[in-house]
Amino acid sequence: MTNQQNVVVVDVMKSGGVRNILAPSSMAVAKSLSPQDIKMLLMRLETEKGGTKINAWVDSMRASSPTRIRSSATDDKNENPWIDHHPSALNMFEKIVAASKGKQIVMFLDYDGTLSPIVEDPDQAFMTREMRAAVRDVARYFPTAIVTGRCRDKVYSFVKLAGLYYAGSHGMDIKGPSKSRKYKKGNQGVLFQPASEFLPMIDEVYKALVEKTKSIPGAKVENNKFCVSVHFRCVDEKSWAVLAEQVRSVLNEYPKLKLTQGRKVLEIRPTIKWDKGRALEFLLEALGYANSNDVLPVYIGDDRTDEDAFKVLRDRGQGFGILVSKVPKETNASYSLQEPSEVKEFLRRLVDWKKLSLGRSSTI
Ligand SMILES: [Mg+2]
Repeated sequence: MTNQQNVVVVDVMKSGGVRNILAPSSMAVAKSLSPQDIKMLLMRLETEKGGTKINAWVDSMRASSPTRIRSSATDDKNENPWIDHHPSALNMFEKIVAASKGKQIVMFLDYDGTLSPIVEDPDQAFMTREMRAAVRDVARYFPTAIVTGRCRDKVYSFVKLAGLYYAGSHGMDIKGPSKSRKYKKGNQGVLFQPASEFLPMIDEVYKALVEKTKSIPGAKVENNKFCVSVHFRCVDEKSWAVLAEQVRSVLNEYPKLKLTQGRKVLEIRPTIKWDKGRALEFLLEALGYANSNDVLPVYIGDDRTDEDAFKVLRDRGQGFGILVSKVPKETNASYSLQEPSEVKEFLRRLVDWKKLSLGRSSTI
């Protein structure tokens, strides 16, 4: 299964136009296009003709949260092909730990919707004390990274754990643990910011978007340092077109920035080829596992932007992507978990298994 047809990347062109890009490979499988694919293809054609650009944006905003697979069978709990293809990581736990034999598990965790519930106000997306304890324990046994679209400082203020790697702004701002760790390999003092030249531009765009969108009730612009998020979760759907037009009018001035979409959020980021997948590869390398077979990366995330990381794992044929979702979605992840409470359960089981296996080996 591929997610390519569901990844919407909207480039803001110098001309002021908007172009939706479908991956070339999705054109090659045109015969198997879903209604969603066809809709997006039409959007592309429309925008290439210079047609209903803003309508295309709004359609895309509607479709982005969440991306469901339409199937009558998925409504039947007893017959759910999606779960067959992406079984619960809790049910597959034994298989996952068996695959880690002789390998170092490295954990990658998205934040919003994975460790914390999705909430209306992004400033209130707190994780529970129990979740924090689970993440802290996991990080004691396995190198662990938080990979998020949020600003690194912001996510740190939520997670509050010193022994982790943090990759903020979709991996464009990476920092190693501030507390000394005893991992065998790796560069803990790592600090990597591949888009630092964009900082002044991002700040400028943030200010312009705050000013431009202040007339829209519920719109919230967040400065994530290397990217800007425009949240529309609390915006009346009737105002989405106006909001999209406002965002477009600002971005027209910045051809070096592009627009992507997450769950009820428009995200503006540099056009550099960097995403959560690249961040995952960078961190594996920083940990000393570049081109290594003795590592088992496990990435847990809930959003479209996490698909870049799932795809890296799938392409490497290494580790497991786990999608957090209650509803079927197109994904490159191998397994699924329904909600953050199941993520917590999975992390706890991982820690219990590790403790048990260490206890066993010390008594041999
Ligand atoms: Mg998320």
